Amino acid sequence: MELDKKRDISELTSRDATWRRELRDAMPAAQRTALPRATMNELDPAYRVTCNEEVAQGLTLEQALGEATRCLDCPNPGCVTGCPVGIDIPSFVKNIQRGDINGASRVLRLTSALPAVCGRVCPQERQCESKCIYNKMHRAPVGIGWLERYAADHASKVEVEKAPSNGKKIAVVGSGPAGLSFAGSMIARGYQVTVFEALHQIGGVLKYGIPEFRLPNDIVDREIEMLEESGVTFVKDVVIGKTISYDQLVEDGYVGVFVASGAGLPRFMGIEGENLIGVMSSNEFLTRVNLMGAGRPGYATPVRRGKVVAVIGGGNTAMDSVRTALRMGAERAIIVYRRGKEEMPARAEEIHHATQEGVEFMTLHNPVAYRGNERGEVTSMLLQKMELGEPDASGRRSPQPVPGAIVEVPVDEVIVSIGVSPNPIVPNSISGLNVSKRGTIEVNDDLQSSIATLYAGGDIVRGGATVILAMGDGRHAAEAMHRALS
Ligand SMILES: Cc1cc2nc3c(=O)[nH]c(=O)nc-3n(C[C@H](O)[C@H](O)[C@H](O)COP(=O)(O)OP(=O)(O)OC[C@H]3O[C@@H](n4cnc5c(N)ncnc54)[C@H](O)[C@@H]3O)c2cc1C
Repeated sequence: MELDKKRDISELTSRDATWRRELRDAMPAAQRTALPRATMNELDPAYRVTCNEEVAQGLTLEQALGEATRCLDCPNPGCVTGCPVGIDIPSFVKNIQRGDINGASRVLRLTSALPAVCGRVCPQERQCESKCIYNKMHRAPVGIGWLERYAADHASKVEVEKAPSNGKKIAVVGSGPAGLSFAGSMIARGYQVTVFEALHQIGGVLKYGIPEFRLPNDIVDREIEMLEESGVTFVKDVVIGKTISYDQLVEDGYVGVFVASGAGLPRFMGIEGENLIGVMSSNEFLTRVNLMGAGRPGYATPVRRGKVVAVIGGGNTAMDSVRTALRMGAERAIIVYRRGKEEMPARAEEIHHATQEGVEFMTLHNPVAYRGNERGEVTSMLLQKMELGEPDASGRRSPQPVPGAIVEVPVDEVIVSIGVSPNPIVPNSISGLNVSKRGTIEVNDDLQSSIATLYAGGDIVRGGATVILAMGDGRHAAEAMHRALS
């Protein structure tokens, strides 16, 4: 398959050379660089906080063609080096420029299993777009993520090419981006693939974590349907390590297992009052709302609807939680973060959207305790004021407490979003599996664990990363397992 992929790319490249030259000659670089970057069409902030509709509405065809025309087709494209899975970005962009949306989608799918998802949630501003030549000219980079989304949304359905069945059974644990990408790669190679998922819906964080206003469920479902049509079997409500053991999988004839069980274990700060009613993890809050219909008519799952909601943290999960709290009726939704806005790990677009929607930012503040009433419900938080010191191991300036500077802020709901740890059930249930101190599964460069037929990838190995890295692991592990089993 790897050879096929290389052949596909070189065929595309030689075939594309002529029309790419024609496109280049049709408009000189000076004219291209003068074109302004497209503006994403977005729902009005006042309207969108009243519903769950997708905020970014995508580009029109005219905008996509214009944006693609801005690409200078650099001889050494920096964007490709900025993409963690090395998508042939100039090729898919140039296909859009000449109006071949199916061609663009085909190039994307050579490397990415979920382009419609990645086009929406990848941190492009830190990856491909940060390496675009336009940055050196102090101009806005080509909107690569928006174009990826355009191509994935508007291309016709791709027929998945499949090798004849080889009769070998493969099990996948977890149906997030790592598991889905692995399953797609293995089914194409002729294996019988079964994905076991603990929850009642397939998709992992794409379903239970990222809200629909950022990633609609039907986008994820379309990808899952394609996998089902190509022959992948999905089994829901099965916890590997509890409902079925790893040994049972082996006894049932699975010759290879890929563990992609993610990092779904929430972290807490261990401070006074964290057990009060109304203090919860973002995992719990988002899962109740996104996966269990809390707040929607006809669903019985409850979730607290705070009037003043504080979300502790500055990552994507914190932004998703605070914006969800607004949509659940919060009158004040506050981000509490111990560093400054510039140091926040969340995507720039998420911070921008949260600001537009009226989220308050209490940066340089860190909770030290929560206070409650006689019914055990949270009523306020005590925040330590911080200042920034020298850079720490992460390269960001480290937050230091300002002595004696503590403020009390009334709240009736707190959502803790300070990071996650690997899901411990699978690692703890398999004897002979090497697990790191952080609880991640240890693997070699082929993503093979200490058990020769067990591979692992995504957050269970990386301990909390990104969709594209998880997806890249899935492909990489499939290539390696296929080599080993052939
Ligand atoms: C709220 C939120 C927002 C995010 N936003 C972004 C973003 O904008 N951009 C980005 O790139 N990344 C984002 N991330 C991170 C990204 O989603 C993850 O890095 C990615 O989903 C990891 O993929 P995965 O397949 O390894 O695991 P997951 O997506 O976590 O999937 C793991 C699956 O395994 C299942 N499972 C666990 N244990 C078992 C078991 N024992 N048996 C069976 N099934 C099991 C789980 O139920 C889950 O469905 C976000 C994360 C969160 C939580």
